[in-house]
Amino acid sequence: MSEIDTSRRTFVATAGIAAAAAGALPAMAQDTPPPPQAPTTPQAAAYPKPPFANQRQPWPGLASRMNPRPDHGETSYKGSGKLTGKRALITGGDSGIGRAAAIAYAREGADVAINYLPAEEPDAKEVVALIRAEGRKAVAIPGDLRDEGFCNRLIADAARQLGGLDILVNNAARQQTRPDIASISSEDFDATMKTNVYAPFWLTKAAVARMAAGGVIVFTSSEQAGDPSPDILEYAMSRAAVLNLGKGLAKQLAPKGIRVNIVTPGPFWTPLQVSGGATPEKLQQFGKSSPLGRPGQPAEIAPLYVAAVDPQASFSTGQIFGATGGGGQPG
Ligand code: NAD
Ligand code: MG
Repeated sequence: MSEIDTSRRTFVATAGIAAAAAGALPAMAQDTPPPPQAPTTPQAAAYPKPPFANQRQPWPGLASRMNPRPDHGETSYKGSGKLTGKRALITGGDSGIGRAAAIAYAREGADVAINYLPAEEPDAKEVVALIRAEGRKAVAIPGDLRDEGFCNRLIADAARQLGGLDILVNNAARQQTRPDIASISSEDFDATMKTNVYAPFWLTKAAVARMAAGGVIVFTSSEQAGDPSPDILEYAMSRAAVLNLGKGLAKQLAPKGIRVNIVTPGPFWTPLQVSGGATPEKLQQFGKSSPLGRPGQPAEIAPLYVAAVDPQASFSTGQIFGATGGGGQPG
């Protein structure tokens, strides 16, 4: 018998004794640490897991100041020409999930316009450079989506500078945690609804007026749409609203040949969470309660934004594309 076989036997025997001991002493079993989470891919093996370092940024936060920095697919996403010649506008394209979609779209052959807040210029500059590195056109249009006039100008400017608009990704959002309903002010409620519900409505209305058959609208919703957390009530409500809008609009626009799809992330490591989206306690354990035991990295959801607009997936409209790390998917 080889040494390897011997040591394996020893291990199995020891494990058996340990299991028997655990059965005899149920109180101690509770103190046993859970087994380490197995990685789903070699890349995922390197992704950070909780606990995370305590950190807080003023809203809206910068990806470049997060510890650790999120992986948006900067060095990993590989395109294969799925979106060649398409023209896309992505709101919140400077960081997080929107940045990952912007990188993926450019690598799939699309020209990409991004919108973001002026305070996010450093993050936006990085994204513009990444899009241009692919030989694609990058258009940067900063501005506040809570203003209807700006939303209309954004669509017009993006279409003018890109030479048309084939794809709109409604991705920008505001999330600020509050312990109870009493602490959600009318200003809070208004800011969240303006950013997360009105803006996607205004932008979509303006975009549809310019889109030809083959156009696609994407809404970023959340697992929160179906399973709201108690400390982000009005945010969760806003994610349910856009999911519902996406499903209804898909039916309305089908005769025009315009598709509408919805992406539902679970916990993702982005500036949204470190700039008031989560309490410090929640942030330190962020993603731990998902079955994969960690938050997703934006790079891991980019392929779903590509699938949601892929012209080859032409029978998919009104569909929900999920990346929740094993948690529930809203219906
Ligand atoms: P993020 O902070 O990187 O992106 C949100 C973006 O929204 C910001 O970059 C900012 O540019 C934009 N924004 C906010 N208010 C704006 C305003 N008034 N005007 C213009 N732009 C504004 O965070 P993210 O997590 O990548 O968020 C992207 C989307 O993902 C959001 O729709 C969010 O609801 C959704 N989401 C995120 C998570 C998560 O855990 N991070 C989970 C579920 C859903
Ligand atoms: Mg940002």
